[in-house]
Amino acid sequence: METLACIPSIVLEGGFWFASLGSQKNGGTRLFALSGRVVKPGLYELPLGTNLKELIFTCGGGIPKNRRLKGVIPGGLSAPILTEEECDIPMDFDSLARAGSMLGSGAVMVFDEEDSILRILSSTVEFYSHESCGQCTPCRDGTNVLKKLMERILSETGREEDYRALVSVARGIRGRTICPFGDAVSMAVEAMAVKYEKEILDFLEGNHG
Ligand code: SF4
Repeated sequence: METLACIPSIVLEGGFWFASLGSQKNGGTRLFALSGRVVKPGLYELPLGTNLKELIFTCGGGIPKNRRLKGVIPGGLSAPILTEEECDIPMDFDSLARAGSMLGSGAVMVFDEEDSILRILSSTVEFYSHESCGQCTPCRDGTNVLKKLMERILSETGREEDYRALVSVARGIRGRTICPFGDAVSMAVEAMAVKYEKEILDFLEGNHG
């Protein structure tokens, strides 16, 4: 639908005009579905290569109550999360791939300092575990194990070993499944767990301190 919607303006203005709207090798526009901790969530059509911070702070009006940006999932849940430090980035295919993430569906989810990475990770694991079709073992069993490990991490018996096992199981799913769903689980969970390791370990230590 997004592609079809571009056709009238391409016919009227020409292909070169459309391509010139974006960045080099990433021509044209893209729809960004901006959600989460922003003042003005919504659907924004912008040139490919628009800086992510411009999308959040200019289009989206910034973060409510001026809270600090924590991270952004830039292209749907399967796109590895970007930390605050990684968010000064052009929103195009090549730039996000270089940053180890992807443009994906264009669904941009913004988190602020009050969002717990444990809650985000827990919801993510729950979603993937529910959605796995069960056809191949690494995805079916891997997502179930991730869910159980996440439950342990959140419980009073959670230990650092559970966190290490979570990262290891997530990595173990990658490249071993029939469809790309397995890689999506692996990359999304690993990025959240590894990039916010300190927050998770602090939580585990505090739980038993
Ligand atoms: S990787 Fe794809 S095919 Fe395999 S169990 Fe997961 S969803 Fe099903």
